[in-house]
Amino acid sequence: MSEATRDVGAALARLKRATRVLVTSHSAPDGDALGSELGFAELAHALGVGAAVVNHDPHPATLGFLPGLETIAVQAELPRGFERDFDLAVLLECPGLDRPAFAGLDRLPILNIDHHLENPLYGEVNVVDEEAPAVGEMVLRMAESAGVAVTPRMATNLYAALVTDTGDFRYSNATPRAFEAGARLVAAGARPAAIAEALWEQNPARVVRLTAAVLATLELLAGGRLALVTCDRAMLEAAGAHPEDTENLVNIPRAIEGVRVAVFLKAFKDGAVRASLRSRGDLDVQAVARVFGGGGHRNAAGCTIPGTLAQARTAILAEVLPVVEPA
Ligand code: 5GP
Ligand code: MN
Repeated sequence: MSEATRDVGAALARLKRATRVLVTSHSAPDGDALGSELGFAELAHALGVGAAVVNHDPHPATLGFLPGLETIAVQAELPRGFERDFDLAVLLECPGLDRPAFAGLDRLPILNIDHHLENPLYGEVNVVDEEAPAVGEMVLRMAESAGVAVTPRMATNLYAALVTDTGDFRYSNATPRAFEAGARLVAAGARPAAIAEALWEQNPARVVRLTAAVLATLELLAGGRLALVTCDRAMLEAAGAHPEDTENLVNIPRAIEGVRVAVFLKAFKDGAVRASLRSRGDLDVQAVARVFGGGGHRNAAGCTIPGTLAQARTAILAEVLPVVEPA
């Protein structure tokens, strides 16, 4: 383990010393995870470093347009012999060595590139910048500082990372730095209108059906300050949907007038419930997620809670209700 730095030059220097890198990100990958991975792999190739992207889970359907997505291997375990075939693991957007959901990653030296609060610095090199609007922006700065040309493909992937993590430049991380990166990516060939159309206007019908079923579970608690929705396997099956089809859905209950915190409980596996937490303003859901061993950002966090859906509901309410109660 080493100190953290914000200097992407440290990531670049470590990358250049590698021959072939295994690139991964968190399970249930989102736009920043996938866009950063593909952008990073292209950067590695441009520097003459081999790179393969391996993820535990498939991508949400609306991210299917990312160029190069078909090169990502999706598998339950790391490839056999990975310790010999790779000489560095690059973890993007992972506030914890457990986030990729792969056993054995620590058998390789690790380059940790992230923008989450409280990243535990599990890497040999840790480049953690909490002020980066997205990890995709950090990858862009790596390419720029390496003097690598940002191709339209790379720009598309990194722009998708940036707009998904900033909610189309609407969240509190939509800083001047976010807009400046966006401008550079558009100048390099990212097409905002086409990307927005692909991301937000091309939902498979099953996602809309699943959304209807999930919203039917809506509970408003704490005088309307807390919104809770749930989803279980039977609901997925009834809609013909997949776990990754639930991405972003928690934003709908958060958007209800008066709601301060939204909780989405997903019971897809036996004995464990995934929780997605969203808040408004200065209410900190990262602190709630941390109680269950999770994390994230102040306004968007997640964790895994052992037990049934009913048990997870009781456990999370015990932590969230005091947070949303007025002082
Ligand atoms: P989501 O609700 O979209 O899965 O995650 C929201 C935010 O919390 C993301 O920044 C994500 O990386 C982070 N997050 C989600 N689940 C976990 C978790 O189990 N552990 C940690 N440390 N962060 C998480
Ligand atoms: Mn993410």
